[in-house]
Amino acid sequence: MRIADLLARSRPSISFEFMAPRDESEVDVLERTVAALAGHAPDWVSVTYRVRTGEKTLELVTRIKRHYHIEAMAHLTCANTADRTRQILNWMEREGVANVLALRGDPPTTGEPFTPADPQLTHASDLIRLVRGSGYRFGIGAACSTEKHPESPDVEHEFQYLQLKVESGADFLITQLFFDNRFYFDLVARARAAGIKVPIVPGLMPVPSRRSLALMTTMSGASVPAALQGAIDEASDDDAIRALGVRHCIAQCAELLEAGVPGLHFYTFNRARAPIAILAALRGQQLIAS
Ligand code: FAD
Repeated sequence: MRIADLLARSRPSISFEFMAPRDESEVDVLERTVAALAGHAPDWVSVTYRVRTGEKTLELVTRIKRHYHIEAMAHLTCANTADRTRQILNWMEREGVANVLALRGDPPTTGEPFTPADPQLTHASDLIRLVRGSGYRFGIGAACSTEKHPESPDVEHEFQYLQLKVESGADFLITQLFFDNRFYFDLVARARAAGIKVPIVPGLMPVPSRRSLALMTTMSGASVPAALQGAIDEASDDDAIRALGVRHCIAQCAELLEAGVPGLHFYTFNRARAPIAILAALRGQQLIAS
């Protein structure tokens, strides 16, 4: 089923992002996380893509669909040539994958520029056009920043390419992580004023640790509100930080749900505990169905 159709339902969708395993040592934790979160009946999930582990993404997506009967979307990036990209898309189509998140992709080394494998595929909008223009019937998602992308001079620059992604055929958007809902509300207001009608799903990250927070904010360009940063600085250890992160995320989700968001998409980093605690709190507040 197309994710855009799931997002058009009256109740907000709940979804999780899993990271495809980089090596065998990550497989057990991932399997346990998928099983634990599948028990919370997400409406859909997604699996990240890296060029070196691309096959693992596709394996995991098809396995989640078959074993758990949950709609699973494959991420795909501009890390391959156009020919190789078509081979991957053909494979996905044969396996019954219905949705693709079309991305430019992170550079293999943080801080270095992204080097496309094919001059035809340098930005996410090129990949979206390739998927739409080749007659595939996938639902297509795209990423968007609520704050300035690290490579962009400003948010206006970023917004013009967001429009291009939608014009090229993206039928829903997932935001980069953010810790202040004001950025999400501003983006949605701006998009609606510009005539962009597709659902914009907030992407949420319960802070996993000081180290991961520093890495993720550098990579995404997300800012941390002073009060949250202050509390993190004073926290005694990563357990205390995780508890703070869960509390902050519950408050974010509650405000987003009250504002009528189409869904909540959790960046899980292949850990189930924080999303489960957040969903339990939202159910307790009767903000999502039990
Ligand atoms: P683009 O839209 O191509 O934007 C990249 C940069 O180029 C931006 O600065 C933009 O302003 C600029 N730009 C865009 N179009 C043009 C143009 N036509 N001309 C000039 N400049 C342009 N990364 C992975 O490697 N694997 C994943 O699985 C993955 N999953 C993700 C899931 C989500 C929900 C999100 C939000 C991000 C994910 N990322 C992933 C990270 C993502 O690839 C990076 O954030 C990347 O820096 C930008 O990707 P994009 O698709 O928004 O790229």
